[in-house]
Amino acid sequence: MTTVGAPRSTLAERLRRLLPHEAVIDDPATLLPYAYDASFWSLRQQRLPDVVVVPRTTEDVQRVVRFADETNTPVIARGAGTGQTGGAVAAQGGIVISFARMREVIEIDRANLQAIVRPGLVFNDFQAALAPHGLFFPPDPGSGRACTLGGMAANNASGPHAVRWGTTSAYVLGCEVVLADGSVIWTGGARSKALKSSSGIDLAKLFVGSEGTLGIITTLRLRVQPRPPARAVVLAGYERLEDTVRSLDDLFAAGMLPSTAELLDTSAVTAIQKWQPSLGLPDGEAVLFIEVEGTPDHVLSEVRYVDEIVRKRASVTRFAEDEASVARLWAARSGLAAASALAHPGKHRIFAGEDMAVPLTEIPRTIRRAREIGAELGVAVIFYGHFGDGNVHSAILIDPEDTDEVRRADELADRLHKLAIEVGGTVTGEHGTGAVRSRYMRAEHGDALDLMIRIKKALDPKGILNPGKLYGEMSRGEPL
Ligand SMILES: Cc1cc2nc3c(=O)[nH]c(=O)nc-3n(C[C@H](O)[C@H](O)[C@H](O)COP(=O)(O)OP(=O)(O)OC[C@H]3O[C@@H](n4cnc5c(N)ncnc54)[C@H](O)[C@@H]3O)c2cc1C
Repeated sequence: MTTVGAPRSTLAERLRRLLPHEAVIDDPATLLPYAYDASFWSLRQQRLPDVVVVPRTTEDVQRVVRFADETNTPVIARGAGTGQTGGAVAAQGGIVISFARMREVIEIDRANLQAIVRPGLVFNDFQAALAPHGLFFPPDPGSGRACTLGGMAANNASGPHAVRWGTTSAYVLGCEVVLADGSVIWTGGARSKALKSSSGIDLAKLFVGSEGTLGIITTLRLRVQPRPPARAVVLAGYERLEDTVRSLDDLFAAGMLPSTAELLDTSAVTAIQKWQPSLGLPDGEAVLFIEVEGTPDHVLSEVRYVDEIVRKRASVTRFAEDEASVARLWAARSGLAAASALAHPGKHRIFAGEDMAVPLTEIPRTIRRAREIGAELGVAVIFYGHFGDGNVHSAILIDPEDTDEVRRADELADRLHKLAIEVGGTVTGEHGTGAVRSRYMRAEHGDALDLMIRIKKALDPKGILNPGKLYGEMSRGEPL
């Protein structure tokens, strides 16, 4: 790996003149955990950064970025490294900025429904801080125990509840950003605490989803919501995948938008049944977890209303109304990774081609075709996802030591990405582009990619911010 700018040997030495000694890491053993994230891409070939810095303040970050600008050195922001696309990995070497020490909750302002936090704050810690105020932060990634709010904003992360509540983008009211030349701006109004604004171009949204390629987020002003006091889940089993779409459409026609409509394809049901047979998941092609939230009375009646509608298409339905049963269902859903390993002993789940999002009406066709491609290539794959917003996840299971199986898994991931675009969807619903999906950006975005590249060049003319990511052919030069 060659660093574009200053020689490797002097980088750490010079950064130690700008930051406290312990904030600069350059011994190879300690650098190792920063050489990968959760992507199969990075696990196969680790990419050591030249140096990692662990700042405490925005001014520390500014000093590092100014130095990177002067020396033409790549600089890569890193939250918890749970990303599945190589986003936080130094694809071309350089300086990784870890936000592990910038994790404060600066303010929780219930009356104004917002909070100000540092980007290194872990999602679950934020929820724990909000809970005593009766508040919550709705985007709910499965990695919430580890991932950071900075990483979520940079990737526009979300989870099952995006169906009703939307993605991280809807909750970023403003952010403090260190730009590529080391200057600092506040988006969303320098002193604003407004919950909405039509004033100017919404620059906060420019940085959300830009994966650290346009600026480094050092503070976030986030919208939060009152937590609904009750919830219940209708568990519905379907003989055929097509009926799941019809069921959801029946709910829409009846004026109902559930909080989740989480899908377990038959492959996922079989895996969970092996792991937790006592759950008694129904047989058939698919299971949906349809959750409703609200006041206890409202939930009591709404869950019956949903059940009545869903029963027209589902072969079996049941409710989970008490919190312990609801939590048990969701725990089973989040244990899918463990369940997959039991269903396919000796295989490992890899994160590749895992995040298609397609129109709701295309979900059955997409899953059927994806199953066929998996079978053609002889690769085990389990499907599940956030059905209510068309986000179909695929868990590819392989023996990473088997080079032929790895080759077939690569082909499967590639064909899944292409399938997503072909059916009118996107290669990533929530995990981001990073290094692994940049090659699909032209096919997905057409000429709009050129405008993204122009924005990138205007904000980062030297190309020091997270190079090798996101911008299609501009990111080439790095083996995928
Ligand atoms: C088991 C598992 C389950 C997951 N489930 C979900 C899910 O349900 N939904 C979902 O959306 N994702 C999910 N993910 C993916 C991942 O957790 C999310 O994308 C998450 O938002 C990444 O956060 P992080 O702190 O780990 O970021 P990192 O992986 O460290 O970084 C991700 C990107 O953000 C950039 N970045 C980080 N901090 C900053 C900053 N301060 N300023 C600018 N850029 C920054 C990085 O450069 C990188 O491009 C899952 C991952 C795993 C391993």
